[in-house]
Amino acid sequence: MVMSTRIISRSGSKHTLLLKSGIAILILATLLLVSSPALAQAKPAKVLEIKVHQEPGGVTRFEEYVTLSPELGAPPGSFYKVNVYAIGAREGIVLVDCGVESLYPDLMREIDKRFPNRPLLAVLLTHGHADHAGAGHYFLEAGVPVYASAADAYLIQMGMNFPGVPSDFSYTGYTPTGLLYGGETLFGLKVIPTPGHTYGSLSFLDTKGRVLFSGDTTLAYAEDDQGPLDLTYELEYMTMLATDKDSLQLQMNSLNLLLDLVNQGTVKAILPGHNKAYHGKDVIPFLQHSIDLVAQALSLN
Ligand SMILES: [Zn+2]
Ligand SMILES: [Zn+2]
Repeated sequence: MVMSTRIISRSGSKHTLLLKSGIAILILATLLLVSSPALAQAKPAKVLEIKVHQEPGGVTRFEEYVTLSPELGAPPGSFYKVNVYAIGAREGIVLVDCGVESLYPDLMREIDKRFPNRPLLAVLLTHGHADHAGAGHYFLEAGVPVYASAADAYLIQMGMNFPGVPSDFSYTGYTPTGLLYGGETLFGLKVIPTPGHTYGSLSFLDTKGRVLFSGDTTLAYAEDDQGPLDLTYELEYMTMLATDKDSLQLQMNSLNLLLDLVNQGTVKAILPGHNKAYHGKDVIPFLQHSIDLVAQALSLN
């Protein structure tokens, strides 16, 4: 997730005004919610750094709890959650995404705990945003190859250090080891281009387990947030609102492609970039929910 710089560059247009007013309402709603008297008395819960979950297909989900800086205007103690997935291959571990830069030591500690003495073979990035690609340079320094979409390589080289992007959503840029274009298979994962959220957004399909890693192409449910200080859904929603119409249309096409894969029986579980995984009968409603949200954003655009 990240707030796009486009909202600034398109300032003055009717679209931008609409988007900005939508975002302003959301921010206001969030602030009102968190400034309610009951909540004002409640002490912010201690934010966990990483929670570990076991998912379908033998996949481990490391869920990072990322604190938001006060400069963003977010209420004290607010946070969002992002997923790093670990897949155990015979020779070692493959990661899908690598989390935020600041939580790299915590992530490695948790990975070492779960997979002692198992080498890290590679990191595969779903896209170039800070919450998914932020720790990549540490992995490169440790000799672990990082693969990313060719279309997001520029974002990653820049570390999203663009005007208007808050420091919470930028990171130390780097050059990925290998670039992906779609159609490749790495470590049993088929690379499926799912552009829209970013131009280079990728999904990875474990063809054996029929598990799909969808990154931010799919969108979490508001109900999956853990209380009013958890802004995971709000940040995803605001990022979507700040996305231009062409990209939203691409995201819609990508979601329909994923829906086709589910209907064909190629996918039976979706492991998204944020919040929990969905499997079995919950997969289609989850995709439909993402399609509905993108349609909503398109209608505002
Ligand atoms: Zn993102
Ligand atoms: Zn994200």
